[in-house]
Amino acid sequence: MLELKNVSKFYYNKGIITSGLTKINLEMKMGEFIVITGESGSGKSTLLNVISGLDSYEEGEMYINGKETSHYTEKDFEEYRRKYIANIFQNFNLVNSYTVYQNVELVLLLNGYKKRHIKKKVLDIIEEVGLTKFKNTKVSKLSGGQKQRVAIARAMVKDTPIIVADEPTGNLDSESAKDVIDILRKVAQNKLVIIVTHNLEQVEEYATRIIKMHDGRIIENQEIKKVDNNIKAEESKYHKITLFNKYRLGVRNTFNIFSKFILLFFVFFFIVAAVFLEYGSFKLYEDLGNKTSVRSIVLSDLSENRIIIKKSDGTNFTDDDYIKIRNLSNVDYVAEDDLFIDQNFTLEAESKSIEYTLYMYGYMQSIDNFTGELDIGRMPENDNEIVIIGSKKHNSIEKKLDEFLSSNFLIRDTNINNLKVVGIKYNEDDNDYEFKFFVSNNIMDRLRGYVNAQNSTLEIFFDDKQVNVDTYIRILPSSTVEKGKVIIDNDLTYILSNRNVRNKYIKISVNNIYYEEEIDLKISNTYTKSNFTRLTGYEKYDENRYVIFMNEEDYNSLYYKPSYQSSVYIKNVDEIESTINDLKNLDLIPKKASDYAIDNFATQKQIIKIATVIVTIIVIIVLFFISYFIIRIILASRKTYYTTLRILGATYNNVRRILDIELFINSSIAFIGALIVIILSKINVLNFEYIAKLTNFVSIKEYILLYIVIIIMSRMISRRFSKKIFKKSAMNTYKEEV
Ligand code: ADP
Ligand code: MG
Repeated sequence: MLELKNVSKFYYNKGIITSGLTKINLEMKMGEFIVITGESGSGKSTLLNVISGLDSYEEGEMYINGKETSHYTEKDFEEYRRKYIANIFQNFNLVNSYTVYQNVELVLLLNGYKKRHIKKKVLDIIEEVGLTKFKNTKVSKLSGGQKQRVAIARAMVKDTPIIVADEPTGNLDSESAKDVIDILRKVAQNKLVIIVTHNLEQVEEYATRIIKMHDGRIIENQEIKKVDNNIKAEESKYHKITLFNKYRLGVRNTFNIFSKFILLFFVFFFIVAAVFLEYGSFKLYEDLGNKTSVRSIVLSDLSENRIIIKKSDGTNFTDDDYIKIRNLSNVDYVAEDDLFIDQNFTLEAESKSIEYTLYMYGYMQSIDNFTGELDIGRMPENDNEIVIIGSKKHNSIEKKLDEFLSSNFLIRDTNINNLKVVGIKYNEDDNDYEFKFFVSNNIMDRLRGYVNAQNSTLEIFFDDKQVNVDTYIRILPSSTVEKGKVIIDNDLTYILSNRNVRNKYIKISVNNIYYEEEIDLKISNTYTKSNFTRLTGYEKYDENRYVIFMNEEDYNSLYYKPSYQSSVYIKNVDEIESTINDLKNLDLIPKKASDYAIDNFATQKQIIKIATVIVTIIVIIVLFFISYFIIRIILASRKTYYTTLRILGATYNNVRRILDIELFINSSIAFIGALIVIILSKINVLNFEYIAKLTNFVSIKEYILLYIVIIIMSRMISRRFSKKIFKKSAMNTYKEEV
């Protein structure tokens, strides 16, 4: 049923043709036990490879069940091998990390057997080779003889008519060798066994035919027992591997080599951590940049004659400093509270008129700075009286002057109210609707805290945990709140995740580029719409949501600070450079306001955003390559395994899918591991403050995206690796590994 007629095989090597087999004629029948001998290099392995369909032949014909095979493609031979051939190797070619059971089971899993059919079959065959005691032992712990018995069991479970064994006893001592041959003979009755061995004695009692080879030719073909039948070789049945079996193998492979699992875990963990840290840090610094730039960048007054100054040692200005600055020849005047120059305020009539509320936008100054003549009214006599400079054409002035002059005004977003406009000076430019408000020094003092607040970051700690403060949470001073206490919006209790906040302490910390200050205060009450005015002294509930009201003194301790930044206005703009030099000589850091005229920062922020994305992508790509190479090194140790799968009949897609599943599970576990570390840091179980901070900048969408990237990456790796396994033909891969 297996017949070779005049088969010749040549090896082409660097232009030299050598002959591997020359005119081989051989007929083999079911039930035969054929022993091939011959000195090394005589062509025994070549013959077995041709018979196994692992190597091609160039001349002659090979018939299986009467079918001719010389036209077979590599794929045809793969099918041929699955149907007819089981190989046993000198070096066993088992999966060392699998148990005996798993090694035998592997063939059935690949051949699409269902679980319920597998178990009995595997256990029976293990019993037959006498390894029941070791069925759950890892193959690596077995002796050579036992290993070869596992290999025989694996060959048997494939249920092919032909078993090809190339020096199966070559690595065994004589006793185990005898054992192995005995078993092989016993289990392979009625099959065709072709075996290469140097030790004739061991096989003599079973051999039906002994063939001796020399120089690629058969020089002796001695029939010992006559086997006279014409039984056809019965094809082994197999199906496509099932999805379930792929998962079984994928899961098994994930965990069966623990060191490999841990290594892969750390590689994937490292990628997730690195991307998270890189991306989070980028966002954090972008955010810090936004906060710290406020004070110096958002300037409303960009006049040519304005120079912004800070002290080079970072301390606040003293009266002495101001005297020295004012003494410089080109200095016109110094705006000590320089922040007010750039801080926009809204004045609003307290009582709404029927048609609309009177209001105006503008900038605050001390009444001391007012020069010139009033067009209407008089100069202030009280702290709550103000004069303004504004456009004659402003609606409120042009059409409602009487109402305007009799109204009480409040400054929006502050607790300052009850102001009266007593004098108006018209603006030279009719179309400039920005006002200048001249208020008492008392009010300037009260506003300074508000201005500092506008330019500071707020941090709130409750119950020893930092509260996620969004921009809508504000703090305001109130004369109705006792010192050391706060009254908060009832709705803030949700943000504090505690409904019972009364008499609990809350820590409030403010910081800006000049100073940091914090205070502990007791929550005495919460306000709602109905008790808002009574508790806080403020009028408009709707405009004061999510506010923490505190005593003015406490508020001032946070925000009422000496000036760290001032502005110098000069007389002659042409001499600005020499004035800047003079200021530098006074140990100051001067900057021209006009330098800020072009807002580069919008584009700069845009660039930073784009850079974040680009750098993140580069980081991912670089990480991909680094981890690809690391994973490749880790997987290299698995090459034998996957080649074994291939020898046992797994296709490229099978191998790829099984590896996919393995890497998918491994990377998912690593991702979840990293996520757990992040979550534990966020809820302060782990003390990684920085990581906790970064969590504020990474959204759920971005975590999901990162997970998808990791999964795609692991799929690409398994694809490349599988390609490599299948790059060479089955025969070459096989021969390399064997
Ligand atoms: P054996 O198994 O009897 O020791 P082989 O079948 O392995 O012998 O080798 C038979 C001859 O073919 C040897 O001379 C060997 O050098 C040659 N040969 C085997 N494989 C190749 C190959 N891939 N390329 C070139 N020559 C080969
Ligand atoms: Mg050989």
